[in-house]
Amino acid sequence: MLNYDTFFIGGKWVDAAGTDTVDVVSPTTGEVIGSVRDATPADMDAAVAAARAAFDNGPWPQMSPNERADIMATISAEITAQFDDFATLISTEMGAPLSFAQMGHVFAATAVLDTYTQLARDFAFEEVRAGMLGPTVVRREPVGVAAAIIPWNVPLFITMLKLAPALASGSTMVVKPAPETPLDAFKLAEILERSGLPAGVVNIVPAGRTTGEHLVRHSDVDKVSFTGSTAAGRKIGAICGEQLKRCTLELGGKSAAIVCDDVDLDAALPQLLPAALMNNGEACVAQTRILAPRGRYDEVRDALADALRNFTVGDPLDPATECGPLVAERQRERVEGYIAKGKAEGATLVVGGGRPAGFDRGFFVEPTLFADVDNSMTIAREEIFGPVLSLIPYDGDDDAIAIANDSDYGLSGSVWTADNGRGLDIARRVRTGTYQVNQLAMDFGAPFGGFKTSGIGRELGPEGLQEYLEDKSIALPFGAEDVLPS
Ligand code: NAD
Repeated sequence: MLNYDTFFIGGKWVDAAGTDTVDVVSPTTGEVIGSVRDATPADMDAAVAAARAAFDNGPWPQMSPNERADIMATISAEITAQFDDFATLISTEMGAPLSFAQMGHVFAATAVLDTYTQLARDFAFEEVRAGMLGPTVVRREPVGVAAAIIPWNVPLFITMLKLAPALASGSTMVVKPAPETPLDAFKLAEILERSGLPAGVVNIVPAGRTTGEHLVRHSDVDKVSFTGSTAAGRKIGAICGEQLKRCTLELGGKSAAIVCDDVDLDAALPQLLPAALMNNGEACVAQTRILAPRGRYDEVRDALADALRNFTVGDPLDPATECGPLVAERQRERVEGYIAKGKAEGATLVVGGGRPAGFDRGFFVEPTLFADVDNSMTIAREEIFGPVLSLIPYDGDDDAIAIANDSDYGLSGSVWTADNGRGLDIARRVRTGTYQVNQLAMDFGAPFGGFKTSGIGRELGPEGLQEYLEDKSIALPFGAEDVLPS
């Protein structure tokens, strides 16, 4: 049992203002494995005050980017030193198969931190341009106090997508983990505490929606970065719009994998399947609409069905497991609701659809394949966030692209073809923020984010750093060149 009755605020472990607790429940057994205090607005006020003081009084924003990068490198090394503990904790907390918790959660988190550590060293935070009336100094200054609101599905990695660029920029931060997955965040706080980070630069307070909304509205918060559902994103975006607060929103997806008529299925499936079902299907970038050419539709359906029947469901800590339990009973009910809708709307259930045999506890759902799906059906339009795939037929590349684009979302997508040039042509025509040709990939040096209702703004790459910077132009008169850095 991991029980915490404090929050990480101002570099210290501070008693919670309230006494209510939130249980952390194992998705594998349904048993309570830990608890944290249910944060109140008073706790959030204390965290924001610490972040504000750390920003306004320094030294973090005034430290050189190299000094900040040195501390970031220490944090990365510490996480790596505890790699197995982090992976096991995350897998236990939210149900990701251990192999995915290792690579997709922990390694990915340190890789993002390392990317921004290097970017902090290399980035031009200040440059001089020749202005009309003399030199202009263009500065990129830290945005100030940032609030990071984290979902439960990839908690450490998504925290790092926000924390790493914030640290590189010189901003300070309040991190609000989801109440389902606070334990890895506290483990990260233990590392931050001894990393050399000045007090208050990062504050960690897990909380539910109401206290989360208090953080978003807080007048001392300059910027909000949110990852989660499109519904919550609309609400948070509206509050930030009203307050003219900087805001980045990473929201849902319903991405289409276009399987071309020239595809080598045997070569494609080992990457297409994890792209569709990674993290038990609880991934915003999951390729859950699979578009197959009518001429090879039956062959694609049968190959997918075979693969899904052989997908190993089990305890996420078992290295052989490919699909673990869903995060919570509530999430399983939601996924089962979509499976019922798929059947009711006339899709053909090919594999799965129920709870796997032999699991009388935990929140397991069978990997599920629906065929004969029309893109207008609910299971093709809404994000299910579970291991449920919809196979949709198409006639020709133009039709495939039209179906891929016929979505409220625009986060990710992929194409599977023997011809990389054809793949690139298709990629250029699909309206999504990221795209993959013949592989499962995410480039941490390149922007990540959504078109349409999948979000606003970008994470990763220099674009992700820019989200934590304010541009400032300082006009100097002719003759002032001697005060400029050489
Ligand atoms: P959610 O929107 O319910 O919650 C996400 C986080 O926001 C949690 O910490 C929650 O406590 C908080 N929250 C919810 N409403 C809030 C409000 N009004 N004010 C402040 N905080 C609030 O989503 P979830 O169920 O936790 O996560 C699943 C969703 O996240 C899926 O829709 C998925 O697609 C999306 N997601 C998107 C990305 C991306 O990068 N685009 C990545 C991962 C997950």
